[in-house]
Amino acid sequence: MVDRMLGTLTRYLRCMGYDTLSANSFPAGNPREDTFLLSLVGEEGRVLLTRDHELARRGQGGAVLIRSDDVLDQVWQLTALGLVAPEVVTSRCPLCNGLLSPATAEQVASAASYAPADQHGIPFFWCHHCGRLYWEGSHGNDLQQRLSTIRCEGACHSDW
Ligand SMILES: [Zn+2]
Repeated sequence: MVDRMLGTLTRYLRCMGYDTLSANSFPAGNPREDTFLLSLVGEEGRVLLTRDHELARRGQGGAVLIRSDDVLDQVWQLTALGLVAPEVVTSRCPLCNGLLSPATAEQVASAASYAPADQHGIPFFWCHHCGRLYWEGSHGNDLQQRLSTIRCEGACHSDW
């Protein structure tokens, strides 16, 4: 469960295959949102990720206070805590958290406006929840590159 203000981290976690809910998917302005998030986290056995000290404190062992504004540092922190492995896994829709399954020819054809022109040998995946097409590399080779720069050396981040 990812708090508001961490939208980029939400997409990264989904691109890494993690079942990730975002506080942004609930209507804004709920004065009891923190309590709502904490009870949902408890019910569903999720980990709460937040930049909010007070919320992290209330979440006790089920919450992680995210220390950096930089998304790679954030992923690094979660990697160092043993919560994630920094690898791209094409199993979940980065936009809606829906699970992906192999796409049919009709689904690939319906996404002709953004699918790669040369489709030979490319496995395609479909999000049934929001109706988007994905394929290996659509989450970004770029992203894999960035994640691969994350190394658990610990030396300069020993406070994590
Ligand atoms: Zn989707």
